Amino acid sequence: MKALLILLATSAIYFIGAELDVFERLVLVSLTHPGLLLGDILTLVLASGVTLPLYVALVVWRKHRMRIALDRSTADADNAKRLDMLTGLTNRQSLIEAIDARGSTQELPPSLLVIDLIGMRAINRHHAHNIGDQVLVEVANRIRQASHESDLVARISSAEFAVLLGADRHRKSGERLARHLIETIEVPIQIAHRTLGVRANIGLAPGPERSLEDDALLCAERVLRETTGPGQFRVYDVDTRARIQREDLVRESLKRSIAQDEVEPVFQPIVNLETHRIDGVEVLARWPQCRHRISTFDYILAAEREGSIGVLTDLILAKACRALSQLDADLWMSFNLSAQQFTDADLPDRVLSTLSLYGIETRKFVIEITETAVMEDMHVAERVISTFRDAGVKIALDDFGTGASSLTLLAQLPLDRMKIDQTFVSHIETNTNNAQIVTSMLVLAEGLGLTAVVEGIERPEEHDFLVARGCRYGQGYLYGRPCSAAMLPHRLAIGPDFLRLLDAAG
Ligand code: C2E
Ligand code: MG
Ligand code: MG
Repeated sequence: MKALLILLATSAIYFIGAELDVFERLVLVSLTHPGLLLGDILTLVLASGVTLPLYVALVVWRKHRMRIALDRSTADADNAKRLDMLTGLTNRQSLIEAIDARGSTQELPPSLLVIDLIGMRAINRHHAHNIGDQVLVEVANRIRQASHESDLVARISSAEFAVLLGADRHRKSGERLARHLIETIEVPIQIAHRTLGVRANIGLAPGPERSLEDDALLCAERVLRETTGPGQFRVYDVDTRARIQREDLVRESLKRSIAQDEVEPVFQPIVNLETHRIDGVEVLARWPQCRHRISTFDYILAAEREGSIGVLTDLILAKACRALSQLDADLWMSFNLSAQQFTDADLPDRVLSTLSLYGIETRKFVIEITETAVMEDMHVAERVISTFRDAGVKIALDDFGTGASSLTLLAQLPLDRMKIDQTFVSHIETNTNNAQIVTSMLVLAEGLGLTAVVEGIERPEEHDFLVARGCRYGQGYLYGRPCSAAMLPHRLAIGPDFLRLLDAAG
Protein backbone atom coordinates (compact mmCIF):
# COMPACT_ATOMS: atom_id res chain seq x y z
CA MET A 1 0.00 0.00 0.00
CA LYS A 2 2.76 2.41 1.10
CA ALA A 3 4.84 1.44 -1.95
CA LEU A 4 1.86 2.18 -4.16
CA LEU A 5 1.43 5.55 -2.50
CA ILE A 6 5.11 6.39 -3.01
CA LEU A 7 4.90 5.30 -6.64
CA LEU A 8 1.82 7.43 -7.15
CA ALA A 9 3.37 10.45 -5.44
CA THR A 10 6.61 10.12 -7.47
CA SER A 11 4.66 9.83 -10.71
CA ALA A 12 2.61 12.86 -9.74
CA ILE A 13 5.77 14.87 -9.18
CA TYR A 14 7.18 13.80 -12.56
CA PHE A 15 3.89 14.62 -14.19
CA ILE A 16 3.73 18.06 -12.53
CA GLY A 17 7.45 18.61 -13.34
CA ALA A 18 6.85 17.79 -17.02
CA GLU A 19 3.77 19.99 -17.16
CA LEU A 20 5.68 22.96 -15.75
CA ASP A 21 8.75 22.40 -18.02
CA VAL A 22 10.83 21.82 -14.91
CA PHE A 23 13.28 19.50 -16.73
CA GLU A 24 14.01 22.01 -19.52
CA ARG A 25 14.58 24.62 -16.86
CA LEU A 26 16.99 22.29 -15.04
CA VAL A 27 19.04 21.78 -18.23
CA LEU A 28 19.17 25.59 -18.59
CA VAL A 29 20.34 25.98 -14.97
CA SER A 30 23.06 23.35 -15.45
CA LEU A 31 24.29 25.12 -18.63
CA THR A 32 24.39 28.60 -17.02
CA HIS A 33 26.06 27.18 -13.83
CA PRO A 34 28.93 25.05 -15.06
CA GLY A 35 29.79 23.89 -11.49
CA LEU A 36 26.50 21.98 -11.21
CA LEU A 37 26.10 18.64 -12.94
CA LEU A 38 22.72 17.76 -14.40
CA GLY A 39 23.03 14.26 -12.86
CA ASP A 40 23.32 15.77 -9.34
CA ILE A 41 20.28 17.88 -9.91
CA LEU A 42 18.24 14.96 -11.23
CA THR A 43 19.30 12.75 -8.29
CA LEU A 44 18.18 15.52 -5.95
CA VAL A 45 14.82 15.81 -7.64
CA LEU A 46 14.35 12.01 -7.72
CA ALA A 47 15.28 11.71 -4.03
CA SER A 48 12.86 14.48 -3.05
CA GLY A 49 10.16 12.79 -5.09
CA VAL A 50 10.49 9.75 -2.84
CA THR A 51 11.09 11.44 0.52
CA LEU A 52 8.69 14.33 0.23
CA PRO A 53 5.51 12.25 0.44
CA LEU A 54 7.09 10.32 3.28
CA TYR A 55 7.95 13.56 5.06
CA VAL A 56 4.47 14.96 4.50
CA ALA A 57 2.91 11.76 5.82
CA LEU A 58 5.19 11.94 8.87
CA VAL A 59 4.23 15.56 9.62
CA VAL A 60 0.52 14.79 9.30
CA TRP A 61 0.83 11.77 11.61
CA ARG A 62 2.78 13.74 14.21
CA LYS A 63 0.20 16.50 14.22
CA HIS A 64 -2.53 13.95 14.73
CA ARG A 65 -0.68 12.45 17.73
CA MET A 66 -0.15 15.88 19.23
CA ARG A 67 -3.86 16.69 18.93
CA ILE A 68 -4.78 13.43 20.74
CA ALA A 69 -2.27 14.19 23.53
CA LEU A 70 -3.56 17.76 23.84
CA ASP A 71 -7.19 16.59 23.99
CA ARG A 72 -6.25 14.06 26.66
CA SER A 73 -4.40 16.58 28.83
CA THR A 74 -7.27 19.08 28.50
CA ALA A 75 -9.66 16.34 29.65
CA ASP A 76 -7.27 15.49 32.54
CA ALA A 77 -7.11 19.13 33.57
CA ASP A 78 -10.91 19.35 33.43
CA ASN A 79 -11.16 16.24 35.60
CA ALA A 80 -8.59 17.61 38.03
CA LYS A 81 -10.78 20.67 38.36
CA ARG A 82 -13.95 18.64 38.88
CA LEU A 83 -12.82 15.50 40.66
CA ASP A 84 -11.09 14.53 43.84
CA MET A 85 -8.00 12.75 42.56
CA LEU A 86 -7.76 10.23 45.40
CA THR A 87 -11.30 8.88 45.39
CA GLY A 88 -12.48 9.90 41.93
CA LEU A 89 -15.51 11.57 43.53
CA THR A 90 -16.78 15.03 42.65
CA ASN A 91 -14.83 17.70 44.53
CA ARG A 92 -16.11 20.59 46.64
CA GLN A 93 -16.14 23.18 43.86
CA SER A 94 -18.13 20.97 41.47
CA LEU A 95 -20.53 20.05 44.24
CA ILE A 96 -21.20 23.75 44.82
CA GLU A 97 -21.79 24.21 41.10
CA ALA A 98 -24.16 21.23 41.05
CA ILE A 99 -26.08 22.63 44.04
CA ASP A 100 -26.36 26.03 42.32
CA ALA A 101 -27.48 24.45 39.07
CA ARG A 102 -30.14 22.38 40.86
CA GLY A 103 -31.29 25.38 42.88
CA SER A 104 -31.84 27.46 39.76
CA THR A 105 -33.75 24.77 37.83
CA GLN A 106 -35.94 23.21 40.50
CA GLU A 107 -38.77 24.42 42.64
CA LEU A 108 -37.36 23.08 45.90
CA PRO A 109 -33.76 23.62 47.01
CA PRO A 110 -31.80 20.33 46.87
CA SER A 111 -31.20 18.24 50.00
CA LEU A 112 -27.66 17.67 51.14
CA LEU A 113 -25.85 15.38 53.59
CA VAL A 114 -22.41 16.25 54.91
CA ILE A 115 -20.45 13.39 56.45
CA ASP A 116 -17.57 14.05 58.81
CA LEU A 117 -15.17 11.15 59.35
CA ILE A 118 -13.92 10.76 62.88
CA GLY A 119 -10.71 8.88 63.49
CA MET A 120 -8.76 9.83 60.36
CA ARG A 121 -6.27 11.93 62.28
CA ALA A 122 -5.38 8.98 64.50
CA ILE A 123 -5.00 6.67 61.49
CA ASN A 124 -2.71 9.15 59.72
CA ARG A 125 -0.69 9.62 62.88
CA HIS A 126 -0.16 5.93 63.59
CA HIS A 127 0.10 4.48 60.07
CA ALA A 128 1.77 5.34 56.78
CA HIS A 129 -0.08 7.98 54.80
CA ASN A 130 -1.07 5.59 52.04
CA ILE A 131 -3.01 3.56 54.63
CA GLY A 132 -5.06 6.64 55.43
CA ASP A 133 -5.59 7.16 51.69
CA GLN A 134 -6.86 3.62 51.31
CA VAL A 135 -9.29 4.12 54.20
CA LEU A 136 -10.65 7.20 52.44
CA VAL A 137 -11.03 5.31 49.18
CA GLU A 138 -12.87 2.50 50.98
CA VAL A 139 -15.20 4.96 52.73
CA ALA A 140 -15.82 6.71 49.40
CA ASN A 141 -16.82 3.36 47.88
CA ARG A 142 -19.14 2.58 50.76
CA ILE A 143 -20.86 5.95 50.44
CA ARG A 144 -21.18 5.50 46.68
CA GLN A 145 -22.69 2.04 47.13
CA ALA A 146 -25.12 3.20 49.81
CA SER A 147 -26.31 6.16 47.74
CA HIS A 148 -29.05 6.23 45.15
CA GLU A 149 -28.05 6.43 41.48
CA SER A 150 -29.56 9.90 41.24
CA ASP A 151 -27.41 11.15 44.15
CA LEU A 152 -24.14 12.97 43.63
CA VAL A 153 -21.37 11.86 46.00
CA ALA A 154 -18.49 14.25 46.69
CA ARG A 155 -15.39 14.54 48.82
CA ILE A 156 -15.37 18.12 50.07
CA SER A 157 -12.36 18.25 52.39
CA SER A 158 -9.72 15.86 53.68
CA ALA A 159 -12.12 13.94 55.92
CA GLU A 160 -15.50 15.25 54.79
CA PHE A 161 -17.83 13.79 52.20
CA ALA A 162 -21.19 14.98 50.92
CA VAL A 163 -24.17 13.47 49.18
CA LEU A 164 -26.39 15.75 47.12
CA LEU A 165 -29.67 13.84 47.05
CA GLY A 166 -31.53 13.23 43.80
CA ALA A 167 -34.23 15.74 42.86
CA ASP A 168 -37.14 13.86 44.45
CA ARG A 169 -35.28 12.73 47.57
CA HIS A 170 -35.60 14.90 50.69
CA ARG A 171 -35.88 14.62 54.49
CA LYS A 172 -37.08 11.01 54.91
CA SER A 173 -34.67 9.62 52.29
CA GLY A 174 -31.89 11.75 53.76
CA GLU A 175 -32.51 10.48 57.29
CA ARG A 176 -32.62 6.87 56.06
CA LEU A 177 -29.39 7.32 54.14
CA ALA A 178 -27.72 9.06 57.10
CA ARG A 179 -28.58 6.17 59.44
CA HIS A 180 -27.40 3.64 56.91
CA LEU A 181 -24.14 5.50 56.27
CA ILE A 182 -23.35 5.77 59.97
CA GLU A 183 -23.70 1.98 60.25
CA THR A 184 -21.88 1.10 57.07
CA ILE A 185 -18.93 3.44 57.67
CA GLU A 186 -18.46 1.98 61.16
CA VAL A 187 -17.84 -1.54 59.79
CA PRO A 188 -14.11 -2.24 60.36
CA ILE A 189 -11.86 -1.79 57.33
CA GLN A 190 -9.19 -4.39 56.46
CA ILE A 191 -6.05 -2.94 54.91
CA ALA A 192 -2.69 -4.73 54.67
CA HIS A 193 -3.50 -7.18 57.51
CA ARG A 194 -4.66 -4.34 59.68
CA THR A 195 -8.16 -3.77 60.97
CA LEU A 196 -8.95 -0.07 61.04
CA GLY A 197 -12.02 1.80 62.17
CA VAL A 198 -13.51 5.21 61.48
CA ARG A 199 -16.87 6.62 62.49
CA ALA A 200 -19.07 9.29 61.03
CA ASN A 201 -21.16 12.27 62.10
CA ILE A 202 -23.69 13.60 59.64
CA GLY A 203 -25.47 16.89 59.09
CA LEU A 204 -28.57 16.82 56.89
CA ALA A 205 -29.98 19.96 55.26
CA PRO A 206 -33.30 18.94 53.64
CA GLY A 207 -34.39 21.19 50.78
CA PRO A 208 -38.00 21.75 51.89
CA GLU A 209 -36.81 23.05 55.27
CA ARG A 210 -34.75 25.81 53.72
CA SER A 211 -35.45 28.75 51.50
CA LEU A 212 -33.67 29.09 48.16
CA GLU A 213 -31.31 31.73 49.56
CA ASP A 214 -29.99 29.39 52.24
CA ASP A 215 -26.66 27.89 51.32
CA ALA A 216 -27.15 24.09 51.47
CA LEU A 217 -23.52 23.33 52.26
CA LEU A 218 -23.31 25.98 54.96
CA CYS A 219 -26.55 24.73 56.56
CA ALA A 220 -25.48 21.07 56.54
CA GLU A 221 -22.02 21.91 57.91
CA ARG A 222 -23.47 24.18 60.57
CA VAL A 223 -25.89 21.56 61.84
CA LEU A 224 -23.12 18.96 61.66
CA ARG A 225 -21.14 21.02 64.18
CA GLU A 226 -23.99 20.48 66.65
CA THR A 227 -23.37 16.73 66.87
CA THR A 228 -21.84 15.94 70.22
CA GLY A 229 -20.34 12.48 69.71
CA PRO A 230 -19.47 10.02 66.93
CA GLY A 231 -22.25 8.16 65.15
CA GLN A 232 -24.79 11.01 65.32
CA PHE A 233 -26.74 12.97 62.80
CA ARG A 234 -28.57 16.28 63.07
CA VAL A 235 -31.17 17.75 60.76
CA TYR A 236 -31.24 21.42 59.81
CA ASP A 237 -34.90 22.20 60.36
CA VAL A 238 -37.06 25.26 60.86
CA ASP A 239 -35.99 25.60 64.51
CA THR A 240 -32.32 25.33 63.65
CA ARG A 241 -32.82 27.99 60.99
CA ALA A 242 -34.43 30.36 63.49
CA ARG A 243 -31.69 29.72 66.04
CA ILE A 244 -28.92 30.28 63.54
CA GLN A 245 -30.51 33.50 62.31
CA ARG A 246 -30.74 34.64 65.91
CA GLU A 247 -27.09 33.76 66.52
CA ASP A 248 -26.09 35.74 63.46
CA LEU A 249 -28.08 38.72 64.70
CA VAL A 250 -26.45 38.53 68.14
CA ARG A 251 -23.01 38.20 66.58
CA GLU A 252 -23.56 41.21 64.34
CA SER A 253 -24.82 43.42 67.11
CA LEU A 254 -22.02 42.30 69.40
CA LYS A 255 -19.44 43.20 66.75
CA ARG A 256 -21.00 46.60 66.20
CA SER A 257 -21.33 47.37 69.89
CA ILE A 258 -17.67 46.55 70.53
CA ALA A 259 -16.50 48.56 67.50
CA GLN A 260 -18.61 51.56 68.58
CA ASP A 261 -17.92 51.15 72.28
CA GLU A 262 -21.61 50.75 73.14
CA VAL A 263 -21.28 48.30 76.02
CA GLU A 264 -21.98 49.71 79.49
CA PRO A 265 -21.66 48.30 83.00
CA VAL A 266 -24.65 48.32 85.34
CA PHE A 267 -24.40 47.80 89.08
CA GLN A 268 -26.63 45.63 91.23
CA PRO A 269 -26.54 46.13 95.02
CA ILE A 270 -25.27 43.32 97.21
CA VAL A 271 -26.84 43.90 100.58
CA ASN A 272 -25.68 43.16 104.09
CA LEU A 273 -28.79 41.57 105.62
CA GLU A 274 -27.68 42.42 109.19
CA THR A 275 -26.83 46.09 108.74
CA HIS A 276 -29.21 46.72 105.79
CA ARG A 277 -26.38 48.51 104.01
CA ILE A 278 -25.23 48.14 100.43
CA ASP A 279 -21.74 46.72 100.97
CA GLY A 280 -20.96 45.82 97.39
CA VAL A 281 -22.17 45.83 93.80
CA GLU A 282 -22.06 43.22 91.08
CA VAL A 283 -21.01 44.60 87.71
CA LEU A 284 -23.20 43.31 84.86
CA ALA A 285 -22.81 44.07 81.16
CA ARG A 286 -25.53 45.87 79.20
CA TRP A 287 -26.06 47.01 75.60
CA PRO A 288 -28.36 50.02 75.91
CA GLN A 289 -28.17 50.92 72.18
CA CYS A 290 -29.23 47.47 71.02
CA ARG A 291 -32.62 47.56 69.27
CA HIS A 292 -33.17 43.79 69.50
CA ARG A 293 -34.13 42.05 72.69
CA ILE A 294 -30.93 40.14 73.36
CA SER A 295 -30.20 38.89 76.87
CA THR A 296 -26.87 39.55 78.54
CA PHE A 297 -26.41 35.82 78.75
CA ASP A 298 -26.70 35.46 74.92
CA TYR A 299 -24.31 38.36 74.36
CA ILE A 300 -21.73 36.85 76.66
CA LEU A 301 -22.12 33.46 74.99
CA ALA A 302 -21.62 35.04 71.56
CA ALA A 303 -18.58 36.96 72.80
CA GLU A 304 -17.09 33.71 74.09
CA ARG A 305 -17.75 31.94 70.79
CA GLU A 306 -16.38 34.82 68.72
CA GLY A 307 -13.28 35.16 70.84
CA SER A 308 -14.13 38.76 71.78
CA ILE A 309 -14.82 38.16 75.47
CA GLY A 310 -11.36 39.49 76.41
CA VAL A 311 -11.92 42.85 74.65
CA LEU A 312 -15.41 43.07 76.09
CA THR A 313 -14.19 42.40 79.63
CA ASP A 314 -11.49 45.05 79.30
CA LEU A 315 -14.09 47.62 78.17
CA ILE A 316 -16.54 46.84 80.96
CA LEU A 317 -13.91 46.65 83.66
CA ALA A 318 -12.37 50.00 82.72
CA LYS A 319 -15.78 51.71 82.67
CA ALA A 320 -16.87 50.10 85.96
CA CYS A 321 -13.59 51.07 87.66
CA ARG A 322 -13.89 54.65 86.40
CA ALA A 323 -17.47 54.90 87.73
CA LEU A 324 -16.52 53.52 91.16
CA SER A 325 -13.38 55.65 91.42
CA GLN A 326 -15.57 58.75 91.14
CA LEU A 327 -17.72 57.69 94.10
CA ASP A 328 -17.02 58.52 97.68
CA ALA A 329 -18.25 55.18 98.98
CA ASP A 330 -16.83 52.17 100.77
CA LEU A 331 -17.92 49.49 98.34
CA TRP A 332 -16.57 46.26 96.93
CA MET A 333 -17.02 45.37 93.33
CA SER A 334 -17.93 41.86 92.21
CA PHE A 335 -16.93 41.17 88.61
CA ASN A 336 -17.81 38.21 86.33
CA LEU A 337 -15.15 36.47 84.29
CA SER A 338 -15.85 33.95 81.54
CA ALA A 339 -14.71 30.39 80.98
CA GLN A 340 -12.17 31.05 78.23
CA GLN A 341 -10.50 33.85 80.12
CA PHE A 342 -8.97 31.39 82.52
CA THR A 343 -6.70 30.13 79.77
CA ASP A 344 -5.41 33.67 79.15
CA ALA A 345 -2.12 33.92 81.03
CA ASP A 346 -2.07 37.74 80.70
CA LEU A 347 -5.47 38.11 82.38
CA PRO A 348 -4.28 38.80 85.97
CA ASP A 349 -1.78 41.43 84.75
CA ARG A 350 -4.39 43.23 82.66
CA VAL A 351 -7.05 43.22 85.38
CA LEU A 352 -4.66 44.27 88.14
CA SER A 353 -3.20 47.13 86.11
CA THR A 354 -6.71 48.44 85.31
CA LEU A 355 -7.54 48.37 89.04
CA SER A 356 -4.38 50.24 89.88
CA LEU A 357 -4.96 52.77 87.06
CA TYR A 358 -8.28 53.78 88.68
CA GLY A 359 -7.07 53.45 92.25
CA ILE A 360 -9.36 50.52 93.13
CA GLU A 361 -7.96 48.51 96.05
CA THR A 362 -7.54 44.82 95.24
CA ARG A 363 -9.07 43.83 98.59
CA LYS A 364 -12.27 45.47 97.41
CA PHE A 365 -12.38 43.51 94.21
CA VAL A 366 -14.13 40.13 93.90
CA ILE A 367 -13.91 37.91 90.87
CA GLU A 368 -16.95 35.72 90.18
CA ILE A 369 -16.16 32.47 88.43
CA THR A 370 -18.59 29.79 87.31
CA GLU A 371 -18.05 26.07 87.57
CA THR A 372 -17.86 25.64 83.80
CA ALA A 373 -15.25 28.39 83.67
CA VAL A 374 -13.07 26.57 86.09
CA MET A 375 -13.58 23.09 84.71
CA GLU A 376 -12.25 23.95 81.24
CA ASP A 377 -8.71 23.58 82.50
CA MET A 378 -8.39 23.08 86.20
CA HIS A 379 -4.61 23.56 86.42
CA VAL A 380 -4.50 26.83 84.51
CA ALA A 381 -7.55 28.07 86.42
CA GLU A 382 -5.85 27.28 89.74
CA ARG A 383 -2.78 29.23 88.66
CA VAL A 384 -4.81 32.27 87.56
CA ILE A 385 -6.87 32.16 90.77
CA SER A 386 -3.73 31.96 92.92
CA THR A 387 -2.20 34.98 91.13
CA PHE A 388 -5.31 37.01 91.86
CA ARG A 389 -5.50 35.89 95.48
CA ASP A 390 -1.83 36.64 96.06
CA ALA A 391 -2.62 40.19 94.92
CA GLY A 392 -5.41 40.44 97.51
CA VAL A 393 -8.38 39.84 95.17
CA LYS A 394 -11.25 37.68 96.50
CA ILE A 395 -12.74 34.80 94.56
CA ALA A 396 -16.43 33.88 94.54
CA LEU A 397 -17.88 30.69 93.07
CA ASP A 398 -20.91 31.95 91.11
CA ASP A 399 -24.20 30.10 90.47
CA PHE A 400 -23.29 27.56 93.11
CA GLY A 401 -25.29 24.34 92.88
CA THR A 402 -26.14 24.53 89.18
CA GLY A 403 -23.12 22.60 87.86
CA ALA A 404 -22.19 18.98 88.22
CA SER A 405 -19.01 19.44 90.19
CA SER A 406 -19.64 22.13 92.77
CA LEU A 407 -18.39 20.10 95.70
CA THR A 408 -15.18 19.00 93.96
CA LEU A 409 -14.39 22.62 93.22
CA LEU A 410 -15.10 23.68 96.77
CA ALA A 411 -12.62 21.07 97.93
CA GLN A 412 -9.91 21.94 95.40
CA LEU A 413 -9.94 25.67 94.86
CA PRO A 414 -8.89 28.47 97.17
CA LEU A 415 -12.18 30.41 97.42
CA ASP A 416 -13.56 33.23 99.55
CA ARG A 417 -17.25 33.37 98.64
CA MET A 418 -20.09 31.16 97.55
CA LYS A 419 -22.93 32.68 95.50
CA ILE A 420 -25.97 30.46 95.90
CA ASP A 421 -27.88 30.34 92.62
CA GLN A 422 -31.28 31.97 92.31
CA THR A 423 -32.96 28.74 91.11
CA PHE A 424 -32.92 27.46 94.70
CA VAL A 425 -34.41 30.62 96.18
CA SER A 426 -37.73 30.71 94.38
CA HIS A 427 -40.62 30.22 96.87
CA ILE A 428 -38.19 28.93 99.41
CA GLU A 429 -40.66 29.38 102.27
CA THR A 430 -43.06 26.80 100.77
CA ASN A 431 -40.82 24.69 98.52
CA THR A 432 -39.37 22.26 101.06
CA ASN A 433 -36.71 20.91 98.70
CA ASN A 434 -35.36 24.38 97.95
CA ALA A 435 -35.53 25.22 101.65
CA GLN A 436 -33.51 22.14 102.56
CA ILE A 437 -30.94 22.70 99.81
CA VAL A 438 -30.32 26.36 100.63
CA THR A 439 -30.14 25.66 104.37
CA SER A 440 -27.50 22.96 103.73
CA MET A 441 -25.55 25.26 101.41
CA LEU A 442 -25.46 27.98 104.06
CA VAL A 443 -24.15 25.47 106.62
CA LEU A 444 -21.60 24.22 104.09
CA ALA A 445 -20.36 27.75 103.35
CA GLU A 446 -19.99 28.52 107.02
CA GLY A 447 -18.16 25.24 107.65
CA LEU A 448 -15.68 26.02 104.88
CA GLY A 449 -15.16 29.60 106.07
CA LEU A 450 -16.77 31.09 102.94
CA THR A 451 -19.00 34.15 102.84
CA ALA A 452 -22.38 33.15 101.36
CA VAL A 453 -24.28 35.49 99.04
CA VAL A 454 -27.76 34.40 97.95
CA GLU A 455 -28.83 35.59 94.48
CA GLY A 456 -32.25 36.31 93.01
CA ILE A 457 -34.20 37.30 96.11
CA GLU A 458 -37.47 38.76 94.84
CA ARG A 459 -40.01 38.38 97.64
CA PRO A 460 -40.13 39.44 101.32
CA GLU A 461 -40.90 35.81 102.31
CA GLU A 462 -37.64 34.66 100.74
CA HIS A 463 -35.78 37.43 102.56
CA ASP A 464 -37.33 36.44 105.91
CA PHE A 465 -36.48 32.79 105.39
CA LEU A 466 -32.84 33.55 104.61
CA VAL A 467 -32.38 35.98 107.47
CA ALA A 468 -33.81 33.37 109.84
CA ARG A 469 -31.11 30.92 108.58
CA GLY A 470 -28.32 33.41 109.30
CA CYS A 471 -27.62 34.36 105.65
CA ARG A 472 -25.28 37.36 105.65
CA TYR A 473 -25.53 38.74 102.11
CA GLY A 474 -28.36 38.94 99.61
CA GLN A 475 -28.84 40.21 96.09
CA GLY A 476 -32.03 40.48 94.09
CA TYR A 477 -34.82 42.64 92.69
CA LEU A 478 -36.30 42.93 96.20
CA TYR A 479 -33.38 45.19 97.19
CA GLY A 480 -32.64 46.76 93.85
CA ARG A 481 -32.37 46.04 90.16
CA PRO A 482 -29.08 46.68 88.36
CA CYS A 483 -28.68 50.43 87.76
CA SER A 484 -26.50 52.60 85.53
CA ALA A 485 -23.32 54.34 86.68
CA ALA A 486 -25.25 57.64 86.64
CA MET A 487 -27.93 56.25 88.98
CA LEU A 488 -25.51 54.50 91.32
CA PRO A 489 -24.89 57.47 93.71
CA HIS A 490 -28.66 57.83 94.13
CA ARG A 491 -29.05 54.09 94.78
CA LEU A 492 -26.29 54.19 97.40
CA ALA A 493 -27.85 57.25 99.02
CA ILE A 494 -31.35 55.76 99.37
CA GLY A 495 -30.20 52.21 100.25
CA PRO A 496 -31.83 48.88 99.39
CA ASP A 497 -35.53 49.20 98.45
CA PHE A 498 -37.21 46.62 100.64
CA LEU A 499 -34.94 47.12 103.63
CA ARG A 500 -35.60 50.84 103.53
CA LEU A 501 -39.34 50.12 103.82
CA LEU A 502 -38.65 47.59 106.56
CA ASP A 503 -36.58 50.12 108.54
CA ALA A 504 -39.23 52.79 108.06
CA ALA A 505 -41.91 50.41 109.32
CA GLY A 506 -40.13 49.26 112.33
P1 C2E B 1 -24.87 36.20 87.17
O1 C2E B 1 -23.45 36.54 87.30
O2 C2E B 1 -25.37 35.08 88.01
O3 C2E B 1 -25.68 37.51 87.44
C1 C2E B 1 -26.89 37.56 88.09
C2 C2E B 1 -28.00 37.63 87.10
O4 C2E B 1 -29.23 37.54 87.78
C3 C2E B 1 -28.05 38.97 86.35
O5 C2E B 1 -28.58 38.72 85.07
C4 C2E B 1 -29.03 39.76 87.18
O6 C2E B 1 -29.62 40.81 86.48
C5 C2E B 1 -30.02 38.67 87.51
N1 C2E B 1 -30.78 38.98 88.71
C6 C2E B 1 -30.40 39.68 89.78
N2 C2E B 1 -31.38 39.70 90.70
C7 C2E B 1 -32.40 38.99 90.22
C8 C2E B 1 -33.70 38.64 90.69
O7 C2E B 1 -34.12 39.00 91.76
N3 C2E B 1 -34.48 37.89 89.88
C9 C2E B 1 -34.06 37.47 88.68
N4 C2E B 1 -34.89 36.74 87.94
N5 C2E B 1 -32.84 37.78 88.18
C10 C2E B 1 -32.02 38.53 88.96
P2 C2E B 1 -27.94 39.33 83.80
O8 C2E B 1 -27.46 40.70 84.07
O9 C2E B 1 -28.90 39.12 82.69
O10 C2E B 1 -26.67 38.43 83.58
C11 C2E B 1 -26.78 37.09 83.25
C12 C2E B 1 -25.46 36.41 83.35
O11 C2E B 1 -24.58 36.90 82.35
C13 C2E B 1 -24.72 36.68 84.65
O12 C2E B 1 -25.22 35.83 85.65
C14 C2E B 1 -23.31 36.39 84.28
O13 C2E B 1 -23.07 35.00 84.31
C15 C2E B 1 -23.27 36.86 82.85
N6 C2E B 1 -22.69 38.21 82.81
C16 C2E B 1 -23.27 39.41 82.99
N7 C2E B 1 -22.38 40.40 82.83
C17 C2E B 1 -21.19 39.81 82.55
C18 C2E B 1 -19.87 40.29 82.27
O14 C2E B 1 -19.57 41.49 82.27
N8 C2E B 1 -18.91 39.36 82.02
C19 C2E B 1 -19.18 38.03 82.02
N9 C2E B 1 -18.20 37.19 81.77
N10 C2E B 1 -20.40 37.54 82.27
C20 C2E B 1 -21.39 38.42 82.54
MG1 MG C 1 -22.26 36.75 88.74
MG1 MG D 1 -24.98 34.06 89.49
